[in-house]
Amino acid sequence: MIKEIQLRITLQEEKQDNILIKKSAKFLHINPKDITGIKTLRKSIDARKVKIIFNYKVAVYIKEQMPESSAYEFNYKDVSKAKSIHIIGFGPAGMYAALRCIELGYRPIVLERGKNVKDRRRDLKAINQDHFVNEDSNYCFGEGGAGTYSDGKLYTRSLKRGDVRRIFENLVLHGATEQILIDAHPHIGTNKLPKVVQNIRETILKYGGEIHFESRVTDFIIKDNKIKAIQLQNNIEMAVERIILATGHSARDIYYLLHKKNIALKAKSFAMGIRVEHPQHIIDSIQYHCSGKRNELLPAASYNLVHQINGRGVYSFCMCPGGFIVPAATANGEVVVNGMSPSKRNNPFANSGIVVEINVDTDLPKYERFGVLKGLEYQKDLEGLAFTSGGRNQTAPAQRLTDFVEGRLSTNLNETSYQPGLKSAPLHSLLPKLIGGKLRKGLEVFGQKMKGYYTNEANVVGVESRTSSPITIPRNENLEHPEIKGLFPCGEGAGYAGGIVSAAMDGELCAEAATNGL
Ligand SMILES: Cc1cc2nc3c(=O)[nH]c(=O)nc-3n(C[C@H](O)[C@H](O)[C@H](O)COP(=O)(O)OP(=O)(O)OC[C@H]3O[C@@H](n4cnc5c(N)ncnc54)[C@H](O)[C@@H]3O)c2cc1C
Repeated sequence: MIKEIQLRITLQEEKQDNILIKKSAKFLHINPKDITGIKTLRKSIDARKVKIIFNYKVAVYIKEQMPESSAYEFNYKDVSKAKSIHIIGFGPAGMYAALRCIELGYRPIVLERGKNVKDRRRDLKAINQDHFVNEDSNYCFGEGGAGTYSDGKLYTRSLKRGDVRRIFENLVLHGATEQILIDAHPHIGTNKLPKVVQNIRETILKYGGEIHFESRVTDFIIKDNKIKAIQLQNNIEMAVERIILATGHSARDIYYLLHKKNIALKAKSFAMGIRVEHPQHIIDSIQYHCSGKRNELLPAASYNLVHQINGRGVYSFCMCPGGFIVPAATANGEVVVNGMSPSKRNNPFANSGIVVEINVDTDLPKYERFGVLKGLEYQKDLEGLAFTSGGRNQTAPAQRLTDFVEGRLSTNLNETSYQPGLKSAPLHSLLPKLIGGKLRKGLEVFGQKMKGYYTNEANVVGVESRTSSPITIPRNENLEHPEIKGLFPCGEGAGYAGGIVSAAMDGELCAEAATNGL
C-alpha cells in the first residue's frame, strides 16, 4: 500500500535519523517496521514564524517495494537518416526542441552562433577581466544559451503550457540532481549547468542529430512566403524545409533582419530596472528571524517582493541568494547586469533584479518612430547609458541603496560580487523618471515589508534590462509564423517564454508543431 501524507518537521527534528519514518508511522498509526520506503515528493520551508518548519509531502510505502527509478521514459531513436528540422539557437528552447524532434523520429540540425560550453568560459573571463565582449560568445550566447551560465532556478508560472515534470525529469536524465524533482523552489546552480548542457549535446549527437557551433544565421531565403534556405555567417547557404527560430531575446540582429524583410513583428511590454545587492546575512536575518549566522540546515534565504505604484508593478526578479551579479551584455558599448548562483548558494551576497513594468503602448512616445522596435531601442539606449555612466567599459554604474532612494551621489560603495567592478554614479537622476522614480518608491516600500532591507549596506547596480523580450514574433494556432510557411518562432526571443523551464516547454511544443505533417 502507498499513502501520500504531509508532514511538518521542526529544525531540531530535521537533524534526527529516520525522522520521516518515525513521523509517518505516528501519523498513520502503523508500526515503523511496516514502512518499506519513503519517497519525498515535495519539500518546502515555512519561515513565516520564528519557529521554522520544513513541510514535506511524502509517499509512504507500507509492506510494498519502493520502485528504484522514475516512471518517466524518453524514447530516443536513431534519426540519422530521418527528415531534418533546422533549429536556430541552442538555448533551453532549442535544446528541448532538438530532443523532442529525436523522440518524434526527426533529425534536428542545430545552428548556434556561440561556442561550446568549455570554450565559452574563456570569453566569460574576458568580459570579467578585460572588459571585452565577444558578440557571439558571452553570458547569453553559446551552447545552452542564456540558461548555461545562469542561476538555474527552475521556477515557472507557465504550468498550463506543458508538462513541467517532464522537463525536470529530462534534466535529471542529463545529470541534474534529483532534488529538483522535490524542492518547492528547485535550483541547479551555475557550476552544474554546463555539464547538463554538455550531456544534452551528447544525446543529440548520439542519436544522429547535428550541432554546428560558431554558425550564426545571418539571412533567411524566402520564396513565395515560404522559407527555403538560411544563410550562415561564412555565406554558406543551407536549404531548409522547416526552421524553429529559438534565438533568445538578446539576438537583436534577428529582430532587425526580420523587420528589414518586412516579416511581421509586434512590440511587447516588458520590465526594466536595476539589480540590488545585499550582504546575504542581512536577508537571512530578516527571513529567518535570526541574528548572526543562519541555522546550518537552512539554505541562503531568498525573497519575492512586489508593489503596485499607481497601477504599475514594481517587483523583484530572478533573486539569487548566495550569488553573483554578472555582466550579461552581448555587445561592446552596453552594460547589462543579471544574476546567478552556484548550487550551494554559498557566496556572501544576495542579489535580485528590481524592475518596473514598461507598457510599450503608452510609455515610450519618444520612441514611436521606431515602430515595433521601440521597446528594443529604449532598452538599447538605457544599456548605452549604463555603459557611459559606468566608465565606458564593463564596470557598472552603482549607488548605495539609501543614496539612490534619497537622491544623493554615493561617496563610496559597498563591496560587490560583480567582477568587472562598480563605479559610483547618480542613478537616481540618470535613469528615466518612469523607471527611477518608481524604483525609489518601490524600494522604500520593500524596506517596510522586510525590516532591514532598506539599508546603506546594499548597492543598486545598473541596468537590469533583459528581463523578457521587448518583441513578439507572431505565430498562428499551428505555431507557425502567419506570413511565412515553415518558420516556427520559439522560446523567449519570440515572446512565448520567460525563463528556462517555459523556454524548454515551448521548444517541445514547437518541435511537435514543426514535425507535424512533414
Ligand atoms: C545570467 C542569467 C541568469 C539567469 N537565471 C535564470 C534562472 O535562474 N532561471 C530561469 O528560468 N531563467 C534564468 N535566466 C533566463 C534564461 O536563461 C532564459 O529565459 C532562457 O535561456 C531562454 O531560453 P531560449 O532558449 O528561449 O533563449 P536563449 O537561452 O537566449 O538561447 C538563444 C540561443 O540562440 C543563439 N543565437 C542567437 N542568435 C543566433 C543566430 N543568429 N544564429 C544562431 N544562433 C543564434 C544564442 O547564442 C543562444 O545560445 C537567466 C539568464 C541570464 C543571462
